[in-house]
Amino acid sequence: MKFTEIDTYLFCSKCLDETIHHVSYLNGKLHRVQCEKCKRTNEMDLDFKRELYKEVYKRVVSKPSRMSEEYKNDDRIKLIEALPRRVFTKPYRLVKYLNETKEAYKKIKGNN
Ligand SMILES: [Zn+2]
Repeated sequence: MKFTEIDTYLFCSKCLDETIHHVSYLNGKLHRVQCEKCKRTNEMDLDFKRELYKEVYKRVVSKPSRMSEEYKNDDRIKLIEALPRRVFTKPYRLVKYLNETKEAYKKIKGNN
């Protein structure tokens, strides 16, 4: 889950002028646009839980094929060699992923 924020000039229909807008993206999708001058906010209809679900689902679905490919090789030594690496890199990746997700969630909740 990635949360990106940028500041850019956009036309504000309330200020009737080009003003600095604070734009935030969730997983590359437009999430929120706020005029820095009048604080008018446009929130996109983006469900955080749905985004998270889609992301987790993608991960879960991509896993069995990756595992079975290693089994398909029928090269037991290769698999055993690959195993410790998997054990070491997975928790790190998982922690990184969870931290990113937590950050994104905090930012969205803080904006509401
Ligand atoms: Zn404005």
